[in-house]
Amino acid sequence: MHYVSTRAAASAAASSSPQASAQSSAQPSARFSDILLGGLAPDGGLYLPAEYPQVSGAELDAWRKLSYADLAVAILSKFATDIPAADLQALARKTYTADVYRNAREGENAADITPLRVLEEGDGKKLVLQALSNGPTLAFKDMAMQLLGNLFEYTLAKQDAQLNIFGATSGDTGSAAEYAMRGKRGISVFMLSPHQKMSAFQTAQMFSLQDPNILNIAVEGVFDDCQDIVKAVSNDLAFKARHKIGTVNSINWARVVAQVVYYFRGYLAATASNDQKVSFTVPSGNFGNICAGHIARMMGLPIDQLVVATNENDVLNEFFTTGIYRVRKSAETYHTSSPSMDISKASNFERFIYDLVGRDPERVKALFTKVEADGGFDLSGGPNSDGDEFAKVAQYGFVSGKSTHADRVQTIRDVADDYGIVIDTHTADGIKVAKEHLKPGVTMIVLETALAAKFNETILEALGEDAERPAGFEDIESLPQKFTVMPPDVDKMKAYIAANTGL
Ligand SMILES: *Cc1c(COP(=O)(O)O)cnc(C)c1O
Repeated sequence: MHYVSTRAAASAAASSSPQASAQSSAQPSARFSDILLGGLAPDGGLYLPAEYPQVSGAELDAWRKLSYADLAVAILSKFATDIPAADLQALARKTYTADVYRNAREGENAADITPLRVLEEGDGKKLVLQALSNGPTLAFKDMAMQLLGNLFEYTLAKQDAQLNIFGATSGDTGSAAEYAMRGKRGISVFMLSPHQKMSAFQTAQMFSLQDPNILNIAVEGVFDDCQDIVKAVSNDLAFKARHKIGTVNSINWARVVAQVVYYFRGYLAATASNDQKVSFTVPSGNFGNICAGHIARMMGLPIDQLVVATNENDVLNEFFTTGIYRVRKSAETYHTSSPSMDISKASNFERFIYDLVGRDPERVKALFTKVEADGGFDLSGGPNSDGDEFAKVAQYGFVSGKSTHADRVQTIRDVADDYGIVIDTHTADGIKVAKEHLKPGVTMIVLETALAAKFNETILEALGEDAERPAGFEDIESLPQKFTVMPPDVDKMKAYIAANTGL
């Protein structure tokens, strides 16, 4: 298995001359381990496998009996062909254990890792919730990040190398990264967050970590200031190389591929035979989670529809209903009660567009250059549009819907009344939109992306009482906290990193 960039470096002229194309095909292509520790491809594109591995019916049948960890090995070994299967197995078995995914609730079996719960069944329609949020930080980002922590440690040990992860967070990603990397050899995490802008719960989750390799930096500013600092430091290539700086953002390919596993798991747990189809509804922001669903479908998993659920930040809903992709300015981005979906552009979307335009890297490059210059592109096929591929979106199973704060509050109430469980705000967006796409004979699986305790303010508003906290989180705000407050100053940040990397 080798990997290509969505904007492939080969020039258009190269393919017209046999000599040049021979040269370009002789270029060493990237393997899984090569792209594991990196971010964007050198040409600014995103990595994807040169072709999607296919899964046969016989394989699917065999996979029905597997534990989550062994299913992960079966799928990952199709993508990570350069890592010995025995090593992958050891890594997956260490990652996907009932001990790590211990926040399962009543009626769930922690050993299932992503347990399913039937919410509603009748008229041939079935609505099911798949819990992806039972990991250490109570959000689905643990599903991939926990594996990444173990993969990084394994790869760095082989190369006798070190990595300093440098990122910015307004919530879920930062804590998932810290819990995945804490105590890992060869890795340090420098995580910026806006000083006193996160919820007390989220702040406590991150700042209560006392591990020496986890460095929390509270920046006196807003999230955009944090991101600007990360960009400025990352643009200093010499500094980046000297201090072995890397990222773990949502475009990381290993994160996407780890997420493919739970689509297979959800399908296998919800069906009895491969003739059955399911649909998935995914609360979406950066398109990382649902991109994994697209890949599972391209591998042959019998998925009928992939339903993109957005909040008020409806960039993706707009594309999937009109064919027009129009990114927002930061001032146009709403701060909502499902904050992990508050995005102005969807960083993984380019992966789907690459497939949609027939894997034509020149088209992808032109379209995303247009995003940078003009703020978007139009594939509706209308006058002056950039193409007519929107007509093909349905072939890929994609449909969408959006949800607002009022919908979220109402859905949290309805779900508590009708099914007796308390869901978080992002999952509420998912259920609201899923109900608009139920079909007879096709089980609808909604991905639960966080536990309610993380977003208690809205639970209180909807239900008049606090969300239940999993064991061990009762008193998290009163634990001692370790963090450094810094001004939004790039030079001071570099000095801090230099002083703390020992490199
Ligand atoms: C990150 C996140 C999302 C959005 O996922 P994407 O991969 O960015 O589409 C949804 N819900 C929760 C709780 C999250 O943390």
